[in-house]
This record gives sequence, structure tokens and C-alpha cells, in this order.
Amino acid sequence: MSALLPVEEAQARLLALASPLPATSADLVAALGHYLSEPLVAQRTQPAAPLSAMDGYAIRFADMPGPWRLTGSIAAGSIAQNALTPGGAMRIFTGAALPANADTILIQEDAENTAGVIGLTGEGPGHLGHHVRRTGGDFSAGDALAPAGVRVSAGIIALAAMAGYAKLPIGTAPRVAIISTGDELVAPGTPVQPGKIADSNSAMLAAILADVPANLATMRRIGDDRDATIAAIDDASRTHDVIVTVGGASVGDHDHIHAALTSLGAAPDFWKVAMRPGKPVMAARVGNAIVLGLPGNPASAFVTAQLFLLPLIRHLAGASASLPNVSSARLGADIRAGGPRREYLRAVLADGVLTPCHSQDSGFVTALARANALLIRDIDAPEATRGGTVPYIAI
Ligand code: AMP
Ligand code: MG
Repeated sequence: MSALLPVEEAQARLLALASPLPATSADLVAALGHYLSEPLVAQRTQPAAPLSAMDGYAIRFADMPGPWRLTGSIAAGSIAQNALTPGGAMRIFTGAALPANADTILIQEDAENTAGVIGLTGEGPGHLGHHVRRTGGDFSAGDALAPAGVRVSAGIIALAAMAGYAKLPIGTAPRVAIISTGDELVAPGTPVQPGKIADSNSAMLAAILADVPANLATMRRIGDDRDATIAAIDDASRTHDVIVTVGGASVGDHDHIHAALTSLGAAPDFWKVAMRPGKPVMAARVGNAIVLGLPGNPASAFVTAQLFLLPLIRHLAGASASLPNVSSARLGADIRAGGPRREYLRAVLADGVLTPCHSQDSGFVTALARANALLIRDIDAPEATRGGTVPYIAI
């Protein structure tokens, strides 16, 4: 038996099979969840002029502790007609630009207006510039606000809008096909006769892809048939960037993915990874498409989708960091030593404590529904006891 490929090596080989797709652009909200294809650079300075952060009075700090003569009023969106004169104060509201010569805000809670004379009733501003949002306090024109490759979040959309953008440069979402293979598969919701099983993987993978920029263009089921498998992959390779096959990845009499790829002249770049579940995962290049062959057991498909499919999609869509983040947590139960393959235990993380689900049978789906983490057991890891620290991937 040839040595199994370590997970990191398989991931690196998969990402090396394809380059990020050409960049495009999208309106701000449509860019959510995509990856910036260029750094976000401030097109303007914010605030463009000193603004009041509070409702109150614009004053000169040098005139503390007052009293002041009221000489005007400035609302957000308007500009004072005159500069502030020594000893003067202007009524001002949150977000309004300070008049010239003003440098500090006296908040209205600390002041009283008696027939146009403003007196101090509280402590007043503690320092020059108190409650003033200074020019460029948020960012200045030309500032690098976010690097290329970061995921566009609601916060980045706010920043881009403020910084002068109506559209964002982003990577292209890959076109994806999911091909589920197996004579036993029936559509969810239809009667499942003995010997048959509902195709849960197709919907599960589509749901996993909803978290990343992926254009899921094709979903189909085919039987365990060599020619049908060849035709389906060949056909999909013409119009998709990624083809995910599920099932048929092993070496049984009814497993056709490897042979189909080989007869398409696309011998897999790797096949069989030192992981559990998910060992038979494979990857190949067919034309311009990457074929990722996932094993059919639901937990195997789930784990390999987290470790290979999501990174591949992120990479093609222009992410600078494609691989899942590994965190650590306290262990909620004793676990046995690791074996010759790295294990990914379906686990529940609650209140910072990580507990493996009881059933780790890769054919069962109840643990998948409960799990919110994959607990990582390294090859030959010593047994671990409750309270120890273990690595995990949030899912
Ligand atoms: P395979 O990788 O084709 O050997 O399949 C391994 C196991 O996963 C078998 O018990 C299959 O019935 C099951 N399986 C394969 N494909 C799916 C699917 N799309 N949905 C649910 N179970 C599947
Ligand atoms: Mg099968």
C-alpha cells in the first residue's frame, strides 16, 4: 500500500492545481462574502472636516469656563456662515461641522442657555478637542484600508461606502457542479425502498457552498456506471470551474471516479489522504476544471468538504487565506490515542468546552446535525483527558 498523503500536503497540492479566477466587480451589497481582488484604498478623508460628536455648543477651549455669547446654530449637513469669535459659542448638533476657530464641544448636558448667554452647569470639556471628530480621525485619502484577499464583511462595506466606493473589485465566484454517484441514491422526500438511501450529500454540499462565493450551476445524480461517470465529468468540465463528485471514490467494484478520471486522461494528482473519515478523497484537473472526488459516507463528504472543497472555492475566488482556522478548546471528555490517520471527530463546543459526539460512524448523520466543531486528533496523538487542550475547526 502506498503511503497516505498528509492532509496539509494534499491541501497544498489541491490549491496548486488552479489559480484564482480573473477579478470582476460588484455593487457594495452584492460584494458581501466575496474576496477583495485589490487593496481597498481610501478615495477621500473621513471626516473631511472637524465634526461634532455630540449635541451641544462649539466653543474655543481657551474660553473655558465661559460664559459664552450664543452666535449661531449649526445642524448636521450645513456649514456655519461665520467663524467663531472669542467668547462666542454656536449651538451644534451631532455630525455637524465645527465653525472656524472652534476647537471643542461643550455638551448640552453641561450647559444652560439663559437669554443667549451660555453658562457652564457641569464639568465642561476636559481638554482641547473634547467631543470633536478631527479631520482624518477615521481615515485619510490614500490610506490602505484593507488588503486584497480579505472577505467582504458588512463592516468592510460600511468602510468602502465611506471611503468613496460604490462598487468593489472582487474575485469571481467559481461555477460549481455537484455530481452524486450511486445506484442506491433517491431524491430526498421520495420513498426509500430497502437497499436505497436518500441522497443527503447533494443538499448538504450545496448548503456548505452557501457560505462561500460559489455559483452552484449544476446538481445531478448518476448511477454507478463507468461510461455515465466519464460522460458526466467530461460534460461538466466544459462549463464549470469545479466539479465535485460524491461517492465512488474507493476501490470497490462499483467505484468509478478514479477510473473515469484516468480514462479522461486526467489521472488524479492525489488519491487517499491520511485522514479519518475521508481517506479516498482525490483531486484531478480535467480541462480547465478541477475535479474533487469526495467519498460518499455523509460524514466523510462533510469533513472533506470542510478541508478541501471550501479551501478550493476560497482560493479560486481570490481569498488570501483559504484553509480553515484551527482553534483550541478544553476537552469535555477523555478520548483515546490517535491512530495512523488524522481524525476529525464531530464534536460540540459549548461554553468553551469541546465534547466529541457519541457516534463517530461516518455513515450516520445525527452527529453531523449536532456538531459545531471538528475535533482534530493528530496521527499517533497520545490519549487526552478531560480538561486538556485540543485543536478544533469550527464548522
Ligand atoms: P461510496 O463512497 O460510494 O462507497 O459510498 C459510501 C457510503 O455512502 C455508502 O453507504 C453510500 O450509500 C453512502 N452515500 C454515497 N453517496 C451518498 C449520498 N449522496 N448521500 C448519502 N449517502 C451516500
Ligand atoms: Mg457508491
